[in-house]
Amino acid sequence: AVEVRGVHKWYGTHRVLDGVDLTVAPGEVTVILGPSGSGKSTLLRVINHLEQPQLGHVSLGGEPIGVRWHRGRLRELSERQILAQRSRIGFVFQNFNLFPHLTVLDNVAAAPVATGRLRKPEAQELARDLLGRVGLAEKVAAFPRQLSGGQQQRVAIARALALRPGVILFDEPTSALDPELVGEVLAVIKDLAAGGTTLLIVTHEIGFAREVADRVVFMDGGRILEQGSPAEVLDHPQHPRTREFLSKVL
Ligand code: ATP
Ligand code: MG
Repeated sequence: AVEVRGVHKWYGTHRVLDGVDLTVAPGEVTVILGPSGSGKSTLLRVINHLEQPQLGHVSLGGEPIGVRWHRGRLRELSERQILAQRSRIGFVFQNFNLFPHLTVLDNVAAAPVATGRLRKPEAQELARDLLGRVGLAEKVAAFPRQLSGGQQQRVAIARALALRPGVILFDEPTSALDPELVGEVLAVIKDLAAGGTTLLIVTHEIGFAREVADRVVFMDGGRILEQGSPAEVLDHPQHPRTREFLSKVL
């Protein structure tokens, strides 16, 4: 499980996360909704330890992220230890972030090799499998620039899977795509959800949230204002801000 406890984050005097508590149980699919600037990306970045909170903490599988207890005090982990932890959390960005100079196959195979988990031939075999799973078996030798946005995003998902993470975080994975390419990426994410992968997804795709989410979380002003099943939050929102937001996006 991912556990976020009492997380506060501010930049200068600007408070971006204001006491966030969130649990994502193993195998659960959680969708985060909220207006621009509500802190959704920052929350994902805190979970992945790309940002450190001033207060509170995050743990994955019971292990605190970025810190450890040492003689009754919390200590920062070393850069190497943080990288090892981060490899247990997949991250799929809005803009794919593929390595432009590597083939599709090597984009997916790179991380298991770099982290010393697999040797190159095994990593490439795994990469072939994963690329097959996301429907890109014929594109292994292509370079990212030769692919559509939807195909690039599917490569990014295969790359996240290559480290067999305990959870995958998605930050608006379809918002940079042409509308007709959104469906193919959502279909891949639906497959992962059906296969029991733990997912935390920031998206504005309400229909998709309704279909795949076990839980929908609504954030505004750095706080979680409400959460519950899709039926609860999307069809019977309790908070006025949730109602206002949904009336604009639906
Ligand atoms: P969007 O839907 O537009 O992606 P979001 O909910 O993901 O929004 P965040 O990106 O988490 O919002 O940003 C929350 C707030 O924190 C915003 O007001 C943003 O300007 C501010 N912020 C984010 N990163 C930084 C930073 N590195 N330095 C200063 N302010 C930041
Ligand atoms: Mg964002």
